[in-house]
Amino acid sequence: MLGAIEAGGTKFVCAVGDMDFNVIELIEIPTTTPTKTMEKVQEFFQQFEIQALGVGLFGPADINPNSASYGCITTTPKVQWQHFNILSSLKEYLDVPIVFDTDVNIAALGEAEFGAAQDVDSCIYITIGTGIGVGAVNNGKMLHGISHPEMGHVTVRRHPDDHFEGGCLFHLDCLEGLASGPAIEKRWNQKAMLLEGRPQVWEIEGYYIAQALMTYILTLSPERIILGGGVMRQRQLLPVIYKHLQAMNNHYLVFPQLEDQMANYIVTPGIEGFSAIKGAFYLAKVELE
Ligand code: ADP
Ligand code: ZN
Repeated sequence: MLGAIEAGGTKFVCAVGDMDFNVIELIEIPTTTPTKTMEKVQEFFQQFEIQALGVGLFGPADINPNSASYGCITTTPKVQWQHFNILSSLKEYLDVPIVFDTDVNIAALGEAEFGAAQDVDSCIYITIGTGIGVGAVNNGKMLHGISHPEMGHVTVRRHPDDHFEGGCLFHLDCLEGLASGPAIEKRWNQKAMLLEGRPQVWEIEGYYIAQALMTYILTLSPERIILGGGVMRQRQLLPVIYKHLQAMNNHYLVFPQLEDQMANYIVTPGIEGFSAIKGAFYLAKVELE
């Protein structure tokens, strides 16, 4: 049996699955205080005999296995979780291999192995929700470096009609500061899902997302781009994103995927809701082998 945790800022999704990556049992635990949340996580996993556990952490997090603070969340705006060591909390009752990566890296891995990027060798997964995070997979491997990529905080050019100051605690008007769900809600003073019929909202949102995608395409050259997270439930964003991306590219990069939305280059998740959990199962199994 394999274990998986998608540790997010809003909720922890915990699951166990069989060796073929099928979900057997899954629960969602609200992210409150580390003590309360980790207690519920323990209750869940103690019901099963798992052989390995894959964990996707909301970033920034320490995912370097050689580091003393491996498995720690680092500079999150959630004060109680700052520098909280998830690994040592899990190790208290789980005597199995535990492997960490970012929530979005394992979502990219899940999509690469089981979802919308199975037919290509590289992809990026972007979540646009409470925050914005980006994971990348190249030839079956998740992208790491000095730490993990933090592409949700890239700088974007401001839309001329946008006067919202931005909501990122660190950078104010970075991509996350201007285009996350909470940024949309502060700019328009309305729940994002209630803004569906207001084209200007999605025009500005699509403008920012397209700029970020342009940066990722120029720097990483991914073969597929997967857009997930609550904000992407607004599917009318896709044509807006294509429009701005084509204008920005201005025929510089010439590959047909950029010219035609039907080419399925920029897509929504193939295993929506399970990208990270399945990625975590996969990571756990690889660790076992
Ligand atoms: P999280 O990022 O916390 O894991 P989500 O990806 O569901 O969770 O993102 C939650 C955010 O997405 C909410 O704050 C809200 O702003 C936005 N959101 C949720 N549902 C919708 C929707 N139907 N349309 C637009 N935005 C939405
Ligand atoms: Zn930022």
